[in-house]
Amino acid sequence: MKHVIYADNAATTPVSQAALQAMQPYFSESYGNASAAHSLGQEAKSALEKARRSVADSLGAFVNEIYFTSGGTESANWALACGVQARANKRAGHVIISSIEHSAVFHTAEYLETLGYEVTYLPVSKAGQITPEQLVEAMRHETVLISIMLANNEMGTILPVKALCQAAKERNRRVIFHTDAVQAVGHIPLDVRRMGVDILSLSGHKFGGPKGTGAQFIRLGTTIPPFMHGGGQEKGRRSGTSNMPGIVGMAAALEEAVEGLAATVPQITALRNKLIWGILAIPGAYLTGDAVERLPGSASFVFDGLADRPLVTRLSEQGICVSSGSACSSSSEEPSRVLLAAGYPTELAAAPLRITLSKHNTSEEIDTIISKVAAVVESLRGQSYAPVSLDFSGKP
Ligand code: PLP
Repeated sequence: MKHVIYADNAATTPVSQAALQAMQPYFSESYGNASAAHSLGQEAKSALEKARRSVADSLGAFVNEIYFTSGGTESANWALACGVQARANKRAGHVIISSIEHSAVFHTAEYLETLGYEVTYLPVSKAGQITPEQLVEAMRHETVLISIMLANNEMGTILPVKALCQAAKERNRRVIFHTDAVQAVGHIPLDVRRMGVDILSLSGHKFGGPKGTGAQFIRLGTTIPPFMHGGGQEKGRRSGTSNMPGIVGMAAALEEAVEGLAATVPQITALRNKLIWGILAIPGAYLTGDAVERLPGSASFVFDGLADRPLVTRLSEQGICVSSGSACSSSSEEPSRVLLAAGYPTELAAAPLRITLSKHNTSEEIDTIISKVAAVVESLRGQSYAPVSLDFSGKP
């Protein structure tokens, strides 16, 4: 296979060596069903509970607050679609999400609207931020659930979930607060107790675990009906035969990622900052998202004079794997919903470039990415390019 520079780690990551090694026996010799009473089953059950303990420790949770799922999408669907039914009063209530949520939350909220729920899509600043005051102002007596992501998958902005949750709980301690932490877990230090959220969703393949694995933190005492009905696994809250290799691999990857944060955060942040300064030297290039409150590995840009041009494809032809934003929407021709919500004009929202780094990237790779992006942008713009003045619709 041709050598490529991989800088699309927000889309997915390679499975780590630690995860691979941990998974191996559960494909072959230790193939028991964790629900079976015999020795092979009990061996699997003990590995399952060890993995649960490890994930709980990585998040600052209690072991009986962790439920294994098939990934971020399932966890988010569960939190929203079932979280709204938690109240004894079964009338369709009011839900608040941010306008920059990943499709897993955004489209589930839209689905809830078809069931009669009212949804407020909270506007964000140009940096992708929401204030506690804004959230509290949007809350109503009938607000049942709030879902605000911890880190945005397109812009890389880290949102103040702890302060948002605290403000929401002060207004109404019974409201369920969910956070989609898929892009944050394993990338920044995080403690569910300190954050105060009721439900937190994560996905294994974003931090060196296998695809199709995920988990849900559900604070003790939080009432939420099951999403998957069946054999009663995961204390009856998420049925389905436990995906043993996946769960064990995800737990090993998370443990490795969290233990390594003290070293990887500064290392990756330095690479990201070098990348940002290099790309911003290109005329008509703009950084999207929050300049300070941003994921260590995430850098995202827009370029004027490039709308509808195949930037990502051309970079791929040059051996650079990056994306135009969310992996789920990268095949769509539409401007980025997230950038439009942050107030970017359509012509800029139609030309995003998301570069997401990991500890495996090198400084030399950053030099190559910068020079290739500069060359491709220049060639796509052509001779007639002239910088434009931007209108961010008064966004701060
Ligand atoms: N939430 C966010 C913020 C994401 O970035 C993603 C994946 O890109 C998901 C949810 C969905 O996770 P999964 O791919 O595990 O279904």
